[in-house]
Amino acid sequence: MGMSCMRKTIDSIKDMNKSDLHMHTLYSDGKCGVDLLARSAAFKGVDTIAITDHLHGDVFVNGASVEEYFADIDVCSQAYHDLKIIKGVEGTLLDIDGEISISQEDAKNFEIVLVDMAWKTVGITVNPPANEKEFKRNVSLAFKNLSLIESVDIIAHPFNFGRLIPNFVFSWLSCDLLEEIAGYLIAGNKRFEIMEGIWWWFPELSPQDFTREYSRILSVFKRCGVKFSKGSDSHSHQGVGNALYTGVLIEKISKDGSNFSWN
Ligand SMILES: [Zn+2]
Repeated sequence: MGMSCMRKTIDSIKDMNKSDLHMHTLYSDGKCGVDLLARSAAFKGVDTIAITDHLHGDVFVNGASVEEYFADIDVCSQAYHDLKIIKGVEGTLLDIDGEISISQEDAKNFEIVLVDMAWKTVGITVNPPANEKEFKRNVSLAFKNLSLIESVDIIAHPFNFGRLIPNFVFSWLSCDLLEEIAGYLIAGNKRFEIMEGIWWWFPELSPQDFTREYSRILSVFKRCGVKFSKGSDSHSHQGVGNALYTGVLIEKISKDGSNFSWN
């Protein structure tokens, strides 16, 4: 029941282009309150946002409970009638066996659950793989197990490995591996987030080189039928709705003839 409710929330978004499904507030590591993010979205014509703060145990980083968080979001929803505010959360994958930082029980309270594969994932960024073979095995397992978790809806900024895995090169994400991962995501009905600032994790690549590599990945997923979501991962009102680079990536994929759509 919980699962179908959450899936319906994303699938009922009318225009993904006018959405921003990833942002942080003072409840975790953002700089502004929910109200300022909602207000920013309302001014910019964003019609759906998801507040996706980091939950530690069953409280937020600022000590507030999930109930307080929801109440705050409800107040903002009433203030901005034309804006849909989704009650989300962002967790992290703790290991390649599929342990995540949010319990199943807690996750079911949220309308959208994002999980990332960064910072704390043993076998990927903690004790990172030593070589290409180990990388492929670990990443495949991680996506396989993460896709099996019912409550998870979106993989946050996938493959943000540049600053986190010392030897990582994009050629490790071979077509075979990507197709395998696509199969897991589709079977588990997970969305692949196109995150506005994904390039930040790759300081050594030129904009042209990074865009070529990342759009190659997106093209494979698109061809396989993976669903996408859109997120700024903004930590202040200024970033809400930002999607210029997302647009660059989508244009690239569309040029490849795969006719991009979010679903
Ligand atoms: Zn985030």
